[in-house]
Amino acid sequence: MKALLSIDYTYDFVATDGKLTTAKPGQAIEQSLTLLTEQFIQAGDFVVFAIDAHHQHDVYHPENKLFPAHNLIGTSGRSLYGQLANIYEQHQNKETVYWLDKRHYSAFSGTDLDIRLRERQITEIHLTGVCTDICVLHTAVDAYNLGYQIVVHKNAVASFDPVGHEWALNHFKNTLGATVID
Ligand code: ZN
Repeated sequence: MKALLSIDYTYDFVATDGKLTTAKPGQAIEQSLTLLTEQFIQAGDFVVFAIDAHHQHDVYHPENKLFPAHNLIGTSGRSLYGQLANIYEQHQNKETVYWLDKRHYSAFSGTDLDIRLRERQITEIHLTGVCTDICVLHTAVDAYNLGYQIVVHKNAVASFDPVGHEWALNHFKNTLGATVID
């Protein structure tokens, strides 16, 4: 069984005036990411929207020292960006569509994702979203350590950093044994 993970494709990470935006590279994948997500939903596969959720006054969070505040709970910055928002709205009540708040880069860190996947006998996870070299990467590393097969859709991941993006794609393939689909 397979699942699709849709990581952090929100206003703050994608919109031109988002708080921590990938901007053009992020916006460029909108169509392919949305189409792929819709295909998985229509096929009845498990689709997880793994979305950063931060509190404004979370003084213990290490990201405070690294990045400006982003994806704050209760703000529109956490809304899914563009067409993906419509797809989620349309299908959010399906049993196979799951919204997962996460506090760290990895969708596995401090969440019940591993349990949700295992109870569905899912062994293969398809990664989409942003940023290729941060949240997608950390999720892929955890997935690797937990024994999942990883598929990364090249035209459905993006980063603000083109060097980091290319490096991560190679890392998925050469070090995590992932299938990277063009
Ligand atoms: Zn964050």
